[in-house]
Amino acid sequence: MIRFYGVTKIYPNGVKALDNVNLHIRKGEFLFLVGPSGAGKSTLTKLIFREELPTRGQVLFNGRNVARLRSREIPYLRRKIGMVFQDFRLLPQKTVFENVAFALEVTGASSREIKRRVPEVLKLVGLEGKANVLPAHLSGGEQQRVGIARAIVNNPVLLIADEPTGNLDPETSWGLMELFQEINNAGTTILMVTHARDIVDAMKKRVVALESGRIVRDEECGGYRHED
Ligand code: ADP
Ligand code: ADP
Repeated sequence: MIRFYGVTKIYPNGVKALDNVNLHIRKGEFLFLVGPSGAGKSTLTKLIFREELPTRGQVLFNGRNVARLRSREIPYLRRKIGMVFQDFRLLPQKTVFENVAFALEVTGASSREIKRRVPEVLKLVGLEGKANVLPAHLSGGEQQRVGIARAIVNNPVLLIADEPTGNLDPETSWGLMELFQEINNAGTTILMVTHARDIVDAMKKRVVALESGRIVRDEECGGYRHED
């Protein structure tokens, strides 16, 4: 589904964030991306989402070179990708329902579709009773469930989660990992950036480790290492 061919990313200030990265992410995979701060993890996810362009090499999404997409095609790429953030990034003045509905509205969904789909996805993440609540009145774990609901409401083929449990306690984090596993079981590919050693070790998924912009490890059923 996603292929990186010899991808190097050098920012305008001269920082080489990725250095000749080759990576193949297959449909249905659950992949942890690990590595120290500054290793290039966020840059890698930004290249998939076309927030940044490679300096050299190619990023292919379903066979298409992401850098060559026409500007009118970029929204369609982004609609296939759900994003979950460490700091949730919810709209504070909007209710849970409205936060999730907003992601559907921008794709032109009808109000009928929104009324059908939002409760469905809130049920999936375990928030069926919280539709009319503002984010500030939810726990951190619940806020992240809203973030996940918003990310999956358009049925993306890929979910990118950038340290989704970074602000949450271990017990809450495990609950979220069960949710990510369910989403993966339903067929969505998951790319998760994380520093959560216990989670990586317990989940036995593919682990790709970056260091100074290079892939230094790529293991099926991997674990977290000291240097990550
Ligand atoms: P990570 O997500 O692993 O912490 P990043 O991809 O954020 O790593 O950053 C990799 C390197 O690129 C770091 O040295 C960082 O400072 C640099 N970097 C990231 N984004 C930019 C940017 N927009 N402009 C310049 N340098 C950047
Ligand atoms: P994270 O570790 O979550 O990626 P960072 O603190 O590395 O967060 O980066 C926060 C934002 O600042 C990112 O959008 C990144 O691209 C940008 N950034 C990081 N390093 C630099 C830099 N040296 N110059 C300009 N922008 C940067």
